[in-house]
Amino acid sequence: MKNKLLQTLLISLLYFIPSGTFAWGTIGHRVVGEIAESYLTPKARLAVQKILGTESIAMASTWADFIRSDSTYKYLNSWHYIDFKEGLSESEFKVYLATDSATDAYTKLNFLIKQLKNKQLYAVKKKLYVRLLIHIVGDIHQPLHTGRPEDLGGNKIKLSWFNQLTNLHAVWDEKIIDNQQLSYTEYTKAINHTTPAKVAKWQHQPIADWLLESYTIVGKIYDEVSEPEKKLSYRYNFDHIETVNSRLLKAGVRLAGIINQLFG
Ligand SMILES: [Zn+2]
Repeated sequence: MKNKLLQTLLISLLYFIPSGTFAWGTIGHRVVGEIAESYLTPKARLAVQKILGTESIAMASTWADFIRSDSTYKYLNSWHYIDFKEGLSESEFKVYLATDSATDAYTKLNFLIKQLKNKQLYAVKKKLYVRLLIHIVGDIHQPLHTGRPEDLGGNKIKLSWFNQLTNLHAVWDEKIIDNQQLSYTEYTKAINHTTPAKVAKWQHQPIADWLLESYTIVGKIYDEVSEPEKKLSYRYNFDHIETVNSRLLKAGVRLAGIINQLFG
C-alpha cells in the first residue's frame, strides 16, 4: 500500500516537472541559426560576426534559453511565445495582432527589429538584441508557441512519447527532433533545400503571416491529441516530421531575411 502511494506520488511529481517550456530545443534552434547563416549576404554576415564575436548564429540561438536560470533575465520569459484563443478566424487573428500591446513574442520581435535599426546602439545591447532576435524568430515557428493560454501552449497536455511521460509542448520542442538522431549540422544539411522563389516568398511575408501559419498548424495538433494521455511514438513522428522540418527551414530563411534587411 505504502509502495503504491509512493509510486503514485513519484509519477505525479514527474508530471509536474516543468519540461519543454524552452521552445525548440537546443538542436532545433541551432538548425534555424545554421540555415539562416547560409542565406546571408556577405555584408550582413560580416556585420553579424562583428556583433556576435566568435559566436556563430547557431550557437547564439540558444542563449535566451540558457540564461533562464538567471533571475536577472526573468523579464524575458514572456518573449518566447504568444498565446491565442482557440478558433480565431484569419481576420480576427490579424486584428488581434494589429492591436497587440502585451509583452509577447510578436511585440518584442517588432521591438528588437526597431531597436537594431538604430546605428548608435551600444555593442552590449546590440549583442543582446541580436541573440534574442535569432531565438524568437525560431520560437514563433514552433506551432505550440502560438498555442492556448489555458494549457500553457501544450505544457499542461500530458502524454507519452515512446512510453516516456512528457507533454505536447515538449514533443514539438525537442522529442520529434531528437528522434532523428542528427547533430544540428547534419540536420541542416538534410533539410536545407529550397528555391530562390520560395526564399523570396517566405522572406517577403509579414511576421503576422508566420504566426498565422503556426496558429493554423497548432489547431490541428490540438485536435489530434484531444483524448487524454495519448501514447505517441513512430506514427506521430512519421505524420509530423515534414511539418517540423518545414517550420525549421522557414524560420531559418526568414531569420536571414531580417538580418539581411538590418545589416545587409
Ligand atoms: Zn524560447
